[in-house]
Amino acid sequence: MRIPHVALIAHDKKKIDMIMFVKENIGVLSKCELYATHTTGSIIEDKLKLNINKMLSGPMGGDLQIGAMIASSKIDYVFFLRDPLTAQPHEPDVSALLRVCDVHNIPLATNIASAEAMIKEIAMEIEN
Ligand code: PGA
Repeated sequence: MRIPHVALIAHDKKKIDMIMFVKENIGVLSKCELYATHTTGSIIEDKLKLNINKMLSGPMGGDLQIGAMIASSKIDYVFFLRDPLTAQPHEPDVSALLRVCDVHNIPLATNIASAEAMIKEIAMEIEN
C-alpha cells in the first residue's frame, strides 16, 4: 500500500486555521505525500518545515491542477478549508474541485470538524 497522498488547500481567511490544523497533526501528515496550492503550501513549508509538492496558486489554476490529479487517482484525501463568507474570483474552479472529488469518491474535508474526523482515518490507515 502506498502512503496516503493528501491535498491541502485553504482560502485566505482560513490559512491560519490550516496552519494550526497541520501543526496539531504533523505526526500524521509528515508521513503523507503532501500537495497544496501554492500560497497554502508555501506558508506551511515556511512555518512547519514540511516538504510539500506545490501547484499553482488557487486563483491561477492550482485548484484545477489538484482536480486533475484527483481525476488521475493521484490524490487520496483532500483538506480544503473553504471560506464560505467571501466570494472567490475562481469559484468555478472551486466547484470543479468539489465535483471531481464526488465523481471519484475521494474523501473531502471542507471545515475543521470534518478535517479532524478525516485525519483520524488517515492515522489509522498509516498504522495498519
Ligand atoms: P492558494 O490557493 O493556496 O494559492 O492561496 C487557495 C485557493 O484559493 O484555492
